[in-house]
Amino acid sequence: MKKSIFILITLALISFSCNNQWKNIYEKESKAASDIRADDFVYWSTLDGMIKDKFPKEVAEYILTNGNSFFVGKCPICRPTENAIADYIKKAPDSNSTNLSAEIIQSIKGENKTEAQKSFSQILYRYSQEQFASLNLDDENKKRLQRELEADRKQGMGAKSQSFGTFCPSCDGACGIKQE
Ligand SMILES: [Zn+2]
Repeated sequence: MKKSIFILITLALISFSCNNQWKNIYEKESKAASDIRADDFVYWSTLDGMIKDKFPKEVAEYILTNGNSFFVGKCPICRPTENAIADYIKKAPDSNSTNLSAEIIQSIKGENKTEAQKSFSQILYRYSQEQFASLNLDDENKKRLQRELEADRKQGMGAKSQSFGTFCPSCDGACGIKQE
């Protein structure tokens, strides 16, 4: 009996903290530029971008289900990217239209893993560029954030296996490296 009450309280706390996290994307302007960390940035840019694009939820689910092709385990940039996609699926309103091209969706879900990774990375690249533009950071904080992202990317690349591919889609996207 006591155990089930404990579980209920834990669940309530978890859902409360998740809601807070979701709320943050709308309150990010109130966060001081010097307090924006690399993982905040990656989370926001992914989530904001997906909302703006009306990213199809079934494609988002496909990416998470096939996480081994899209994310590097232990990569500090892949984690907030995955979290943003999961939160998007849970909480974004459903939509019948999307701003993503049919071509890029087809590529993400296609057989060619390298092409799928490139397409995913191109989307994340666009999202991070848009996020940098919308945050309107001063030079000092923009450079600091870019340094943090670059350090995280190094860590991610160090954790990447050879069989995964030659680059990490989330890391390159967040660090402004455009896959052609
Ligand atoms: Zn990565």
